[in-house]
Parts: sequence; C-alpha cells; structure tokens
Amino acid sequence: MKIGDMTIDAIVDGECVMPTEAVYLNRGPEDWKEYEQFLAPSAPGSNLFTLGGYLVTQGDRLILVDAGVGPKATFPFVGGALRSALINRGVATTDITDVIFTHLHNDHIGWASLDGRPYFENATYHCDRRDWDHFVRPDYPMPEWEAAFTDPAVDAAYVRLAPVADRMHFFEGDDSVLPGIESWEASGHTPGTTVLKLTDHGESVALIGDLSHTEPELIADDWDFMAHEDHKEGLQAIERIRKRLYDEKLMFAAAHYPGMHFGRLTMDNGKIGYEQVPD
Ligand SMILES: [Zn+2]
Repeated sequence: MKIGDMTIDAIVDGECVMPTEAVYLNRGPEDWKEYEQFLAPSAPGSNLFTLGGYLVTQGDRLILVDAGVGPKATFPFVGGALRSALINRGVATTDITDVIFTHLHNDHIGWASLDGRPYFENATYHCDRRDWDHFVRPDYPMPEWEAAFTDPAVDAAYVRLAPVADRMHFFEGDDSVLPGIESWEASGHTPGTTVLKLTDHGESVALIGDLSHTEPELIADDWDFMAHEDHKEGLQAIERIRKRLYDEKLMFAAAHYPGMHFGRLTMDNGKIGYEQVPD
C-alpha cells in the first residue's frame, strides 16, 4: 500500500487457527453462514488469524507497527517468520527506527526483545501508557485464556518488554505518535488499544490493530470477542470507529484478517459491508 511517499507493507510472522465456535462469546458456526466469504477455505471449520506487523517507510523513518508473536510462542500461536520477512525485504533489525504497538498482547510484542535485549536495537518504542501500566508488571492478573495460550516465563509482557522499558515513549488515547501518525482512542480490547491513522501528502489509511479480529466483527453488531478486557467498551469502540472509517472513507488493515490485506467499508442499501482492496 502506498499513500503519498509512504509505503505500508504487511510483515507476516505466523498464524493462529482456532475453531470458529471458540472465538466469539455469542457467535458460532451458524452465524458465519452469512459471512462465509471471509473464512479462509484453507482452514475449514476454523478462523485463520494471520499474525505479524506492518512495515511503514516514511522519509528517513522505518517503522514497525506491532512485532508479531515471536519465535517462542505457544500453540495455537505459531510465529517466528517476521525475521525472514524483514530479510526478504532487505531490512535489517538495526534499520528499524521506531516500533509502535497497537496494544501489548503477546501476539503483538513477540519480537520486542530477544534473549533479554532489544531486538530492534536502534529503535524507539511507542505504546499507549494505559496498556503499559496494565500489562507490564509481575503481578498482572493474567486471564485464563491468556494463561492457556502462552508461556508466561517468556511471553508475559513484563518479560518481553522489560529490556525496552528505557526506550519506550508513551502516547494516550487520541494523540500524536509521530509526524503523520496519530492514535485514536479505541480501548476495550485492552485498556490502551489503539487505532493508528497514517497520513502522507494528504492521503490517509488506518491500521486498526485488534479493534476487530474478523470482518463480520467490524461490519455486523455485537460480535463479542472472547479476549476483550472490557466487553462493553470493546463493542462501543468498534461502533465508534466503524463510523469514523466510513465517514473518512479510509482504507484500513486489521492486525489479524487472513493475509493482512487492506480493505474498505462499503454501503449497500443501508447495510455496511467490507471489501478488500489491491495492496
Ligand atoms: Zn492480536
């Protein structure tokens, strides 16, 4: 994707495949019948979530938005390819100037550090202060689902992020992260979940992170994702930002839609929809 002089490319680290009935508290396989086009035929009966981040080139900056699940993830999270994906694009870890986290769940911070050292050794890291305060502490009350999917000794945010604490810059809610990159308040999935709006030469796109994990969660109402910290706020954030994405006619990419493609919202007879756009 290119806007102005800025490029935004998906960097795939891995994937997570989960049975459809396990993803939403109040939706199951029956509800997917209307939205079958959004299921990957290569993962029958399941939701395929791609994991990774987005590489943004902006002048002299080389920015990574989210850092995948990392090389030591726990089933069903399979990661580790981000390193090869960067090499494939001719990018060295030392080239990355900034790492921005949309939130601090383990499938977004996996490559923040490796063996106790910052993995992107020249980078400044950025996140919403409320997520830092919530996750980066040894007494973080890990919910059941997260404990089941992770190895806290290596995956916990306070382990992965301690090595980058002294290079972390904080933003909060609606804020400016870097020139041309603004954050939108989207808390609910986590206390500091963020949507990023990227602008260059008058053109904009959004990276919506984990605001929504599947297309129907964004375009239909009340698909209650199992891992929201605050379910009510998570659903409210979707409604609010869906309107903003539509009103501003923004192309956007989510953190986990299969293949990490860009898309846009459509309107057909008063019904909101989603269509993928060419990268
Ligand atoms: Zn995620």
